[in-house]
This record gives sequence, C-alpha cells and structure tokens, in this order.
Amino acid sequence: MELAMINDTVVDMDQAKVSAHDRGLLFGDGVYEVIRFCNGKLFEMEAHMSRFEHSLREMDMLSQVDLAVIRNRVDRALDQSKLRDAKIYFHVTRGSSPRAHDYNNSWQPEFLLTVRAVKDHHHQETGRAIIHPDWRWKRCDIKSLNLLANVLAKHAATKAGAYEAILVDEKGMITEATSSSVLMVKDGALWSAPLQANILPGITRSLLLKWAEDLGLEPQEESFSLVDLKNAEELMITGTGTEVMGITQLDGQTIGNGKLGNYTKQFQKKLVAAMQF
Ligand code: PLP
Repeated sequence: MELAMINDTVVDMDQAKVSAHDRGLLFGDGVYEVIRFCNGKLFEMEAHMSRFEHSLREMDMLSQVDLAVIRNRVDRALDQSKLRDAKIYFHVTRGSSPRAHDYNNSWQPEFLLTVRAVKDHHHQETGRAIIHPDWRWKRCDIKSLNLLANVLAKHAATKAGAYEAILVDEKGMITEATSSSVLMVKDGALWSAPLQANILPGITRSLLLKWAEDLGLEPQEESFSLVDLKNAEELMITGTGTEVMGITQLDGQTIGNGKLGNYTKQFQKKLVAAMQF
C-alpha cells in the first residue's frame, strides 16, 4: 500500500497535508533524499543517509535533526506499506513560521515521507536528451528542495520529445542533468565531472565509477566539454529513478552508433544485479 508520513504519523497519501507556514513550501527551505527499496531491502541506504547528513549540515540544520529518528521512520513506513519494491522520498524542512526570510534555529523541523510502489522493476534502456544551460545556484552538492532550474530544463526536454536535459555551464562544460548524473565513455575511460559544489554527488554515479575498472575502463573524474560529449563513444545518465540509461541522441545528433552501447549494457546489468542483492 502506498502511504505518506507527516512527522511521526503515517497517513493516507491523499490525506497528507502541510502547514501554509512550512518553509519548504514558502522558500524551498529544506533537503531531501530518494531511495530505492528493492526486494525488501534499502539500496545504498548508508550512502543516502551520509549525503543527507551533508545536506543538513550545509543548510545549518543538522543540530535540529536526529538521523536515527529518520531511519526509524523510514523502516516503520516501509513496514506498514507491506511493499517489497518501492521508491521512498523524504524531506526535512526548516520548520513552520509566518513568512519572513530569516530563520531561527529553535524551530522544529517538519518531516514528510512518501512510499510509492515501483511496478516496472527496471527503467528504460535508452533515451534522448537535449542540452540546456545550467541555471542552478552554486551549491548543487546540497540536495535542496529548490529545484526550479531543474524543473524548467526538464520541461524543455519533454517539449522537445526527450527524456532528460543535460546541463552545460557558462564555460561550455558539462555538469550533470536535471535529475541524473552524466557519464561518458571515451578513449578507454569512463568520464564524469569531478565532485565539486556544482554537481550533486550521485550515488549511482559513484557505483559506476567504482565498477569501471571491472569493465576495463579508467575512471576519470575530470571536467569535459559539450564538444567532448558530442563525440562520446557512449553517453549515459544515472540516478536512483533513472538507473542507467544510454543516451543515443543529443539535440537530434546521434551519439556513438545510435544504439545501446556495450559498456552501458554491462553497467545496466551490474546495477540490476546489485539492486537484487
Ligand atoms: N543529479 C541530480 C541533480 C539529481 O537530482 C539526481 C537524483 O535525483 C542525481 C544526479 C542522481 O543521484 P542518485 O544516483 O544519488 O539518485
């Protein structure tokens, strides 16, 4: 059964309501995570919790949040849902207070969680992408609720008949995509932009970089340009929801041979195997 949780209380998905003073609603002032529950187990839970801790710390919210309480709520919600394959979303906002920009560390944070069933266990293998300017703020390492630039770029992709928008900064370098990381295979290496404040440290991305050598690829965390990307042998996007998707067309131009690449296929297999524990 799909369900929601508001602070400590499990509620029907349709009954979940938040305050009109919630800072998440008013300012996007909060942080979140999305985690897969596969075959009755949480996938890469420790990595998600440590990224969540980083987001809370950088938002000056860590002292108000007990991570053990959150873990316990996740377990309770999953228990009650009785689902074996699900996607868990949760966020913590800075609290509820009549709208004013400044905040106060004495506020009680607000927690919201949803559990949704995953029906098609695995995601589509290939898709198309567009290139879009990266309009986001300078702290994309924080998984914040403020996703306006991501939303606008994703809609531009949808309007163009593509799945994702790959973001390019003002210097012509690739950062990531609206809700996934970007990796490419070129000259025997698996490339992805280095972990700096301009990208989210994607957990699926880190798994692929860890597995690269098993497939005979050198993991290469270095900046690469839009020109490099267009000449990639294989291009892929990765994420908790997206899994590993081969991008076969970019702004209408064919990438590689225009089909699911061999390395991409092998990474897909590795991820599926890892998710099934
Ligand atoms: N980059 C962005 C901007 C994202 O929003 C996401 C996932 O939501 C990712 C990358 C992929 O991260 P992960 O593999 O941890 O899901």
